[in-house]
Amino acid sequence: MIILESLTKRYGAVTAVDDVSFTAAPGRVTGFLGPNGAGKSTSLRMVAGLTPPTSGTTRVLGRRFTDLPNPGREVGVLLDASAQHAGRTGREILRIAAATMGLPRTRVDAMLDLVSLTPKEADRRLRDYSLGMRQRLGIASALIGDPEVLILDEPANGLDPAGIRWMRDLLRGFADQGGTVLLSSHLLHEIEVVADDIVVIGNGRIVASGTKDELLANGRTFVRSDDLAALATALERAGLEAVVSDGAVVTDADPATAGRTAHAAGVAVTELRAADGGGLEEMFLQLTAVSQRDQHLAPEGTAA
Ligand code: ADP
Repeated sequence: MIILESLTKRYGAVTAVDDVSFTAAPGRVTGFLGPNGAGKSTSLRMVAGLTPPTSGTTRVLGRRFTDLPNPGREVGVLLDASAQHAGRTGREILRIAAATMGLPRTRVDAMLDLVSLTPKEADRRLRDYSLGMRQRLGIASALIGDPEVLILDEPANGLDPAGIRWMRDLLRGFADQGGTVLLSSHLLHEIEVVADDIVVIGNGRIVASGTKDELLANGRTFVRSDDLAALATALERAGLEAVVSDGAVVTDADPATAGRTAHAAGVAVTELRAADGGGLEEMFLQLTAVSQRDQHLAPEGTAA
């Protein structure tokens, strides 16, 4: 598993990461969500031993990343898909990775196959790769050592919808086999569809964390009936909130209570479900708005 403990990083007057603590557990996909400039990359770079923290500690599989004997065999990292020699071909990059980790060359072809890079594409130089191809190659590099842990910074960037779907299935499969996945994104939807656990960061600080279900639940229930007025009255009589909107009633009761209340009043319910979105989406929109405002208002050279 991955542990971040009171992790802080300052660059001069800028606190990029401010007392960040969370855990990414095995068998789960942990989504690290935050607007641009929130501190995601800096946090992940600290976990991967690329940026020294100002204070705090990180552990991967019980050790500091730099103390892992053969890091590529234990932890697959994709932080910047373009951070490779632009003159090398994709195949060369994977061969070097395989040789460094003491893996057979057959692993290279297996990985190219896994990420759907054709032999012709594999022999092109990285400078001629699209961003999506670089991401696929980066994922191949991360997976080549058959690690237990994956750390990916914005892996969906540059992928087309089919590529995003492919990656989501790949990460899901990795976690289902007991692996630990920590991935970042600035897009709520991307995190929502793949993550089991979500950690939200804004301005360097953790603003929310929990399971996806916890964060998405807003404690409200969406009820439809052919007789909305009777439904609303029944709920209100039971001391519950009932707001009629868009051909349905939204109430502050949980689904079971709302259903029983309608039944007791003899009102037939035609649809009953937990109202989704709400909490997390609103919070994230606010964070994004604040960070964009900061960027627009900040004097030149200090933009977040
Ligand atoms: P994210 O990955 O969420 O977009 P980053 O971790 O890249 O955010 O950046 C967080 C903050 O730290 C930003 O304000 C960014 O400008 C600042 N920052 C990141 N790296 C450096 C650096 N090397 N020097 C100075 N400031 C930095």
